[in-house]
Amino acid sequence: MRSVVSNVRIYAVILPVLMALSGSWSWAETPVQVTVSILPQKYFVEKIGGDRVKVAVMVPPGAEPHAFEPKPQQLIALSNSRIYFAAGMSFEQSWLDRFKAVNSTMRIVHTDDGIDKIPMDTGDKNEREEHSGHDDLYDPHVWLSPPLVRKQAEHIYTALVSADPGNREFYTDNYNRFLGELDDLDRYLKERLSVGSGHTRFMVFHPSWGYFARAYGLEQIPVEIGGKEPKPADLVRLIDTAKRLGIKVVFVQPQFSDRNARTIADAIGGKVIYADPLAENWEQNLKDVAEKMSAALR
Ligand code: ZN
Repeated sequence: MRSVVSNVRIYAVILPVLMALSGSWSWAETPVQVTVSILPQKYFVEKIGGDRVKVAVMVPPGAEPHAFEPKPQQLIALSNSRIYFAAGMSFEQSWLDRFKAVNSTMRIVHTDDGIDKIPMDTGDKNEREEHSGHDDLYDPHVWLSPPLVRKQAEHIYTALVSADPGNREFYTDNYNRFLGELDDLDRYLKERLSVGSGHTRFMVFHPSWGYFARAYGLEQIPVEIGGKEPKPADLVRLIDTAKRLGIKVVFVQPQFSDRNARTIADAIGGKVIYADPLAENWEQNLKDVAEKMSAALR
């Protein structure tokens, strides 16, 4: 009986020391609180951080991210966040300083750093000049290209390791697995979208798919003009373009009205396809979009 008691006492002293030394146990078992701008980033962070992170999303599902304004309670919630993963969205330009003012110890990580951006495809060079004052000058939709997500994943991985070095091995394993998944997805999308028939153009209401199109040999023809609804004269021109290019499909995303897309699709005898660039189930969503697109381009 006495030896059991003394063993218990010894373990009570030694066990916490051993656990702390092994690095697998620390106060950081409380998940690392982070905030991201958009839902696809939640997918990326959770792929690498697993259950060691808790992810808040700034732009809620269904909201339109380009003109987004955070609510006061979202700013207050930032005080718990250790990292803010910025995506390069236009709203960040005016809000990141205020985020930092709420929580000066929160690290801001620009996940789009090191990615060469293409100019925002407004479909009309003159309109681009006219609207560049309030719109994105560069296309922010880099999260829709798996090869570019590799770069974003690298930033996320590095930041998580430096916030929570005790779990480095865990993050490294997840990161490497995720890179493998990105390669597999890239191969899958290349296979699905290699149509080779020449019908590689598609119309989109909001030009979110520029990097995706570039990665997979497609070309998006924007219906939206410089962030604005097309005027009747624009619609006539777009219908002519669609007919001339043999386009059969117009993509719309749930955050925008599909009225103009329907007008065009009806006029060309084509279809409207819903494709959400902000879906949280990122990989499955890209597979679904490729499926719909390859069926439409066949
Ligand atoms: Zn967008």
